[in-house]
Amino acid sequence: MSDLLGKVYKLPRQCPICGKTLVATVTQIEHAGEIEMVDQIEMTCITEPPMGSKRADEFYETHFKTPYIDWVPIQDSVKLAINKKVMAAHGLEYDSEFETWFDPKEPSDSPYNMHW
Ligand SMILES: [Zn+2]
Repeated sequence: MSDLLGKVYKLPRQCPICGKTLVATVTQIEHAGEIEMVDQIEMTCITEPPMGSKRADEFYETHFKTPYIDWVPIQDSVKLAINKKVMAAHGLEYDSEFETWFDPKEPSDSPYNMHW
């Protein structure tokens, strides 16, 4: 049973298309020892209409016209930010650059200051 899988985060960052709230859903997790980490997330915007509704087509046309430009960079940084938060909750720091785990020795000046 996972606490993390399926978890939904509303983010203080703005949608790259319309400026509204971003929403991230954890769709896949991985395990690092005892700890669950995020492996994949899906990003969308809070204005996304229900699937199959009339407005949905328009939403996808405007919001996901160029996903690799608009969404992938955000997705990567959000995933990292969530994993940093998960690690912090376990008293650890996640160094994505080297993909190693270590006890924090110095204050981190992370660029991912997300105001949770
Ligand atoms: Zn939007």
